[in-house]
Amino acid sequence: MAELYKSYIDGRWVEARSGRTFENHNPADRRDLIGLFPASGAEDVDEAVRAAKKAFAKWRLVPAPKRGEILYRAGEILRRRKEEIARLMTREMGKILKETRGDVQEGIDTAYYTAGEGRRLFGETTPSELPDKFAMSVRVPIGVCGLITPWNFPMAIPTWKLFPALLCGDTVVLKPAEDTPHTAVLLFEILEEAGLPPGVANLVHGAGEQAGAALVRHPDVRLLSFTGSTAVGREIAALCGQNLKRVSLEMGGKNAQIVMDDADLKLALEGAVWGAFGTTGQRCTATSRLILHRGIKKEFTEMVVARAEKIRIGDGLDESTEMGPLINEAAREKVHGYAQIGKQEGARLLTGGSIYEEGKWINGYFYRPTVFDEVAPAMRIAQEEIFGPFLSIIEVKSFEEAVEVLNNTRYGLSSSIYTRDVNRAFRALRDIEAGITYVNGATIGAEVHLPFGGVKETGNGHREAGTTVYDIFSEWKSIYIDYSGKLQKAQIDNIE
Ligand code: NAD
Repeated sequence: MAELYKSYIDGRWVEARSGRTFENHNPADRRDLIGLFPASGAEDVDEAVRAAKKAFAKWRLVPAPKRGEILYRAGEILRRRKEEIARLMTREMGKILKETRGDVQEGIDTAYYTAGEGRRLFGETTPSELPDKFAMSVRVPIGVCGLITPWNFPMAIPTWKLFPALLCGDTVVLKPAEDTPHTAVLLFEILEEAGLPPGVANLVHGAGEQAGAALVRHPDVRLLSFTGSTAVGREIAALCGQNLKRVSLEMGGKNAQIVMDDADLKLALEGAVWGAFGTTGQRCTATSRLILHRGIKKEFTEMVVARAEKIRIGDGLDESTEMGPLINEAAREKVHGYAQIGKQEGARLLTGGSIYEEGKWINGYFYRPTVFDEVAPAMRIAQEEIFGPFLSIIEVKSFEEAVEVLNNTRYGLSSSIYTRDVNRAFRALRDIEAGITYVNGATIGAEVHLPFGGVKETGNGHREAGTTVYDIFSEWKSIYIDYSGKLQKAQIDNIE
């Protein structure tokens, strides 16, 4: 009998009202059924939002340092359960253990960082322009927040949203991705154990078009925080715009690594391989274009291909595996489709481009690390997000051309340049259009205490993590206290 997991509403573990469920399988072996999860609909979402609305009345009055202490405890429990959760996460979504441990660690880091913020959450005091008057600004909570998350960082991304929202005094309803509901259950078990009062954080499983869409449309949800594809984010933004809801979006990427002719090639190779094939290329910050100066192009391309062909593919639970499966069959079809597109467009396939079904891996969604050469900047494989182990190599003649090619995309999340010329590095930092730029580092590896997000069609101007995330999850209130005992008129009484 498959285990039946539940949603978490108002402090209780519950099934969908309809009783419907969906199955969740291991992508490394689709015969391995992880469990059944509630296929929730609008009525379940409504119940969760009502619980969150009721809980908000009390939670907003809990002092922020106290809210932070609960999050700190959540961090402690995450630390205690790190290895167990990492293993369950690898089974659920496929990436290798080293990376799922990192995913849990990101949740721990976020818990501790957010807990500390409970004793800051600074506003400002400033002089008034009038005598005997005091002025300051403070952060106030927003209300019920809807959080919708993808499957590629099933612990880190929910904590990036949940913890700051809770710290600010908001209450939340999380709708996790259909491919990773189990990790969300583990997170909510931890919040429960940490002592979060009922209704403050609610978990509703289900499909994006049903549970997700109901959350976006619910009139009592004041803020929507979404991480996922640009196509879905665009729809959510339009709906939120019509209803004047605050909405923060973290979406797709088409990230590039530049390697100049003066770069340390061994270092750049490590970065390129980690950036392109880590998490099987399924990171929003994954390196999907390699922009190579013609002076090192031939040598570096050979190095990349040789390394890509040695990558050990398999079950992420095996410590010697370097690359796990793709998340599901649709993802594999999409990646394979782009390999055909690349050939049709006239790019040259150097390695990969095929499904990996050797031996016992026949039941998983494995794909070979794929490298295309002679890619032109306008080709679809250089423009569209593929979200798989797929690298497009573009040759350039100069630094200026490298930056121009890097910027020639509708996305703008992460970027990287390998060079030993400090002047060039600083020019790149100035001219690259992206939310994140690394010098002599891979495009992946963000830390939780710096702002995270992208420009152009990657985002809508907000930044998660860092101190900037508190601008998403709180409102500013300006406060004036007049102790003059008379009516004082700003802009009028103090002008001679
Ligand atoms: P997705 O857009 O398909 O799904 C994301 C979430 O949205 C899921 O929970 C899904 O159920 C929900 N959803 C789908 N349709 C919906 C709808 N109509 N209304 C409401 N919710 C809906 O994305 P995915 O495949 O889970 O994740 C991969 C994408 O996420 C990639 O594009 C990747 O770049 C992006 N991503 C971005 C970041 C970032 O920080 N910028 C981080 C991770 C992933």
